[in-house]
Amino acid sequence: MALLQISEPGMSAAPHQHKLAVGIDLGTTNSLVATVRSGMSTVLQDEHGRSLLPSVVRYINDNEVIVGHQAQAKQSEDPINTIVSVKRFMGRGIKDIADKAHIPYRFVSNNASESPSQGMLQLDTRAGLKSPVEISAEILKALKVRAEKALGGELTGAVITVPAYFDDAQRQATKDAARLAGLHVLRLLNEPTAAAVAYGLDNAAEGVYVIYDLGGGTFDVSILRLSKGVFEVLATNGDSALGGDDFDHRIYCWILDQTREQTPNKQPLNEEDTRLLLTKARQAKEWLTDNDEAQITCKLSDGYAIDVVLSADTLVELTQNLVNKTLSPMRKAMRDAGLELSEIKGVVMVGGATRMPHVRHAVQDFFEQEPLTNLDPDKVVALGAAIQANVLAGNRSDDDLLLLDVTPLSLGLETMGGLVEKIIPRNSTLPVARAQDFTTFKDGQTAMSIHVLQGERDLVSACRSLARFELRGIPPMAAGAARIRVTFQVDADGLLSVSAREETKGIEASITVKPSYGLSEDQITAMLKSSFGAAEADKQARALAEAKVDAMSLISAINIALEQDGHLLSESEKDEINASVKSLEQTLNTEDSHAVHAATEALNETTENFAAKRMDASVSRALAGKKIDEVDLK
Ligand code: ADP
Ligand code: MG
Repeated sequence: MALLQISEPGMSAAPHQHKLAVGIDLGTTNSLVATVRSGMSTVLQDEHGRSLLPSVVRYINDNEVIVGHQAQAKQSEDPINTIVSVKRFMGRGIKDIADKAHIPYRFVSNNASESPSQGMLQLDTRAGLKSPVEISAEILKALKVRAEKALGGELTGAVITVPAYFDDAQRQATKDAARLAGLHVLRLLNEPTAAAVAYGLDNAAEGVYVIYDLGGGTFDVSILRLSKGVFEVLATNGDSALGGDDFDHRIYCWILDQTREQTPNKQPLNEEDTRLLLTKARQAKEWLTDNDEAQITCKLSDGYAIDVVLSADTLVELTQNLVNKTLSPMRKAMRDAGLELSEIKGVVMVGGATRMPHVRHAVQDFFEQEPLTNLDPDKVVALGAAIQANVLAGNRSDDDLLLLDVTPLSLGLETMGGLVEKIIPRNSTLPVARAQDFTTFKDGQTAMSIHVLQGERDLVSACRSLARFELRGIPPMAAGAARIRVTFQVDADGLLSVSAREETKGIEASITVKPSYGLSEDQITAMLKSSFGAAEADKQARALAEAKVDAMSLISAINIALEQDGHLLSESEKDEINASVKSLEQTLNTEDSHAVHAATEALNETTENFAAKRMDASVSRALAGKKIDEVDLK
C-alpha cells in the first residue's frame, strides 16, 4: 500500500561473541551439562565421575541447599523439603497441576500483584516460599559450578533445552531460572532438535525424523522435518505421566506380591520403605537392560529381609503394556503430520528408559526400521545442546552455522483498510529482525494503534490476532509526514517482540508475544491451506481496501483544504467539489473497487483547479515581504 509503507531496511541480529559455552539438559529426572572439547561434544562429570545430576533439590534451612544425589537420598525422609521433578511446575499455576493429592508439596499461589510471576505456583518449604524458577536455578547453579570447575574458567553462555511443546510461560520460566543461576542463555533449544543435532542429522540427508523420548516420568514423541539445514517441528505428542518411574512401580508391586505371604501385616509400607523398594526396583530394571537376572535384596525398617530374583522375561511381562502405551501417541503424531511410515528417514532414541530392549523392539516394529541408539540416550540432548552452544559462541566458522528453527506462519501488522502488511515471512529462519517504516494517516494524528497478526492471508479478519498496543505522543504533523519505524524481532527461542518508534521525538512503545507455540500444528496447517485457495479473492479484497484508503485520505485532505482556502473558490465551484466528494463517499459503501477508483479520479479532476489556486496563493504568501535571495529555491 503506497500511502503508508515507506521502506524496508533489512536488519539482522548481532552474533554472539563468547568462548566457554555449554549445553544443558534441564531434565525432569536428571540434568546434565556438556561442552565441545577438541571438536568433540562431551558430558562433564562431577568429582565422583558421574554424568547425571538427579534433578532433586533439598532445602535444609534458610541458607543451605543441596542438589543431586545427596538430595535424592533424603527424598523419603524429608519429602516436603525435597523437591523432585520441579520441571513439571515450570510456568504453571496451581490450577494447572492435575493430581495434587499425589504430590507431597505444599502449593501456594503467588498473589503479589507487582510480581512478574503473579498467578504462578510456589512451594512452601523449610526455607520459605520457593518458586519452580528458584528451585530450577539451584539445579542450574550446580551444573554451572561443575562446568566451571571442569573447564577452569567462567562460563560465558549456555544453550538450555526445553521440550518442544513448552509454551511461552514455560520457556520464559526456564530463561528466568538460568538468569537467576547467573547463566547467560545463548538460546533455548527444543530437546528433540538437540538430539537430532547430536546425531549430526543437520548434516545428513534432508527428510523427516522421529525423536522418541522416554525419560523418567514423561514420554514425548516429536516429528521433525529437516530441509536446508533447518529443523521444523511437524508434530509433537506424548504422555506426561508415562516414563521409567512407572516401570519401577510395576517391579515394586511385583516385589510386594512375591513377599505378600510372609509380610501380610506390613502392607501398605511406610514412606521410607516404599522409597527404598522403589530405588531397588529401579536398580533392578537398569541392571536387566544388560543382564538376564537381577537379585533384589534389602532390609525393611523393621528388620525384615527381602531377597527375590527378577528375570528379564518377567520384567517384559510386567511392563509390556507400558511400552505399548507409547504407540498411540506415535500414531497420533504421524497422523497430525500427515505422514506415512515409509516417509520416516530415521528414528532417534532419547531418554534413559529407551535403553530397555523391549522398548527398542517396540519402536523398531512400529517404524519398520532400526532406531539410532549408538549415542547414550540420556546424554544425547545435552550433547546436541553443547554443539549448538559451541556454534553460537562463535567457536566455529560461519558456514557451519546451524539454522535450526523457522517461523511457521508469516508475521505482520494491520494497516489502513483492514489489510495485513507482512513484516516477517513464513519459514524465515530464527533469529530474525525486520523493520518497516509507516506514517500517519490523518493530519495531527498523535497516536497509532499497532495490531500484530499471524497468518498468510491479506485480510486482518482471516489472520490470527496476536497482540495490540498503542504508540502515543506522536508530535502533531501533516498526514504522511511522521516516520514511525516498526521493528519485528523473533529471537532464537521463538519469542516475538514488536516495537514502534517515532523518529523525530524518539518516543517508543513495544510488546512481546509468543507467536507460534499457541497454535497446534493442525491450526497452522489449516491456516496455510486456507491461504492457498484464497489468493485471488485476497488480491481483490486488497485492491478494494487500498482504493478505499486512498479515497478516504483524498476526502480528508480536501476537507482540510476547503477549510483553509475555501475563500479562493466561488460558491458554484464549492458546490461542484462537495457533490464530487459526496459521490465518492457513496462508493465507499460498495464492494466495487472500480467504482471507488473512478470516483476518486473524478474528484481529483474536479479539484485540479482548486489545487492550482492554492498553489499560487501559497507561493505568493511565501514570497510576501522577502527578497528573492532569501527564498529557498530548491
Ligand atoms: P528425564 O528426561 O526425565 O530427566 P532421563 O532421560 O534421565 O530422564 O531418564 C531417566 C529414566 O531412565 C529413569 O527412569 C531411569 O531408571 C531410566 N534408565 C536409566 N538407565 C537405564 C537402563 N540402563 N535401563 C533402563 N532404564 C534406565
Ligand atoms: Mg530428558
